[in-house]
Amino acid sequence: MRRNYTKRCPRCDTKNDYTAYRCSSCGLIFSRVENGSNMLAKQLILAGKGDETVKAKQFPKDVSKKKFLLLCGFLGFWGAHNFYVGRYVKAVIALILGLITIILVATSSIIPNLDKVMSYFSVPIGINTIIWLWDFIDGAISKYRIPVAVDFMEGDKK
Ligand SMILES: [Zn+2]
Repeated sequence: MRRNYTKRCPRCDTKNDYTAYRCSSCGLIFSRVENGSNMLAKQLILAGKGDETVKAKQFPKDVSKKKFLLLCGFLGFWGAHNFYVGRYVKAVIALILGLITIILVATSSIIPNLDKVMSYFSVPIGINTIIWLWDFIDGAISKYRIPVAVDFMEGDKK
């Protein structure tokens, strides 16, 4: 396996040296991300200030990787892990598709022309399944991006 010598800035996506203290482009101090809060990020997102958060691949202190993977593994098809970390758009789409799946399965014997109904939903449900499995793998290898509220200071911005 190739060793990873660079890391991408969670704010501006610029490639930096793996050992860099701050982003060479936007000046973000990376240790601020490690100490950032997902709880605060969720509040910002719900208040419509999602652009004040960064999406970090590392798990912030207030997110449990174990809980994330359990939620994803067992309830991820319905978006539970995305609700947990505040990726609400993804979460709501998954929840809707998950509920449609349950309804289709539960009523499969009484819906006339089920094949036709299924044909409308088979592709989105398939995509939802792939995203679910993808998120689980990404979470396990710490590639899934988690919203984090970072305490920016004047010196961070160029
Ligand atoms: Zn940057």
